[in-house]
Amino acid sequence: LKNQNPVISKPRYVRVNTLKMDVESAIQEIGKTNKVTKDDMVPDMLVLPSGVDLHDHPLVKNGSMFLQGKASSMVAVALSPKPGWKVLDGCAAPGNKTIHLAALMKGKGNIIACELHKERVKVLEDTIRRSGATNVDIVHGDFLDIDPKDPLFAKVRAILLDPSCSGSGISAKRLDHLLPSYSKGHDVDTATSQRVKKLAAFQRKALAHALSFPDVERLVYSTCSIYQTENEDVIKSVLPLARSLNFELATPFPQWPRRGLPVFEGSELVLRTDPTEDMEGFFIALFVRKKSTNSSGK
Ligand code: SAM
Repeated sequence: LKNQNPVISKPRYVRVNTLKMDVESAIQEIGKTNKVTKDDMVPDMLVLPSGVDLHDHPLVKNGSMFLQGKASSMVAVALSPKPGWKVLDGCAAPGNKTIHLAALMKGKGNIIACELHKERVKVLEDTIRRSGATNVDIVHGDFLDIDPKDPLFAKVRAILLDPSCSGSGISAKRLDHLLPSYSKGHDVDTATSQRVKKLAAFQRKALAHALSFPDVERLVYSTCSIYQTENEDVIKSVLPLARSLNFELATPFPQWPRRGLPVFEGSELVLRTDPTEDMEGFFIALFVRKKSTNSSGK
């Protein structure tokens, strides 16, 4: 009985929004009613016992804390933009990662958050407002239509690309799909497979577009999918382009043991989280541009 549902015993995670509150104060406040520790990998992430529900907690309601999973919170940390940078979030709503970027940048610099769908722009606006971030500009439009040479975007130094995906790594969706082969990232039924192929076509295009921004030094591609088609296959398909632009894959969270499926050389550099073991199934790849020898030392 004890092992019937191992997911139940997983801890809860909450991210302190350091734009509004420091981590020690949050621990003190949350610690009044719950056992709380700091996560050992993701800064500003608190770990609470399984089953704790903080949805109605005043610190969540007022935007001092966000209920964001650990895997999702690893994405902005993998990008690690510096305070003062210009950063582009290509597919931004609802904005969890946008405001995480703002916190990591200590509110300094500029984040451009692009979102295609009008209704979701409203959600994005609300998330940003609740977070207290004041350095985010929203672009309502198609990321693919952004001109990398436009002076507004030419100085972008980091891009976070978290495009629409099947969501197959998130538990609610996973329930319909829980087949042993999925955890290996392989076959899906035909309808799903058609949808996933369509998504992957967009993901490839968006990632190639992101690589074309002239000043980008760091680029993170992430999904909450467990399918190889949306993950390793997308990365593999852009590698020749990435290399021609002087990018190479880097290793986000080298201490994290679960890496990419071994389907291309270097796949051990990308990162996976597992929907059962790690609560959510995410995929993270980090591209870093090699400094050219005649670089001005940026
Ligand atoms: N990064 C977000 C977060 O952590 O809160 C989640 C992003 S969600 C996976 C993908 C978003 O991209 C959706 O809101 C979707 O409407 C938007 N999107 C899809 N196609 C787009 C496009 N061509 N340009 C800009 N945004 C797009």
